Amino acid sequence: MPKLPQIAVIACGGFLKLNTMGFTKQEVVGIECDNCKEYYINEDSGFSVWAYESDAMADASNKGWIEENGKHYCDKCFHYNDEDELIINAERTNENS
Ligand SMILES: [Zn+2]
Repeated sequence: MPKLPQIAVIACGGFLKLNTMGFTKQEVVGIECDNCKEYYINEDSGFSVWAYESDAMADASNKGWIEENGKHYCDKCFHYNDEDELIINAERTNENS
């Protein structure tokens, strides 16, 4: 799938729905980290949007992203402690969004 211009961005949970106008009307999804608010971009393929949420999350999970309780976290924003509990990196929390 070619990269599409990100014209309209509508937050929808941890996923973003990106609507393109003009040549195509295909709805695509990308993933935003619920902690630092950075968008997931696959640096190998250059893709940042996918046709399906499941495809987006499958790709992101290969790069260390996780989905937890309906939220999404990038590989830099979490770790597991000795009790296997999910710890969110508060230093990276971005409240502006
Ligand atoms: Zn993050």
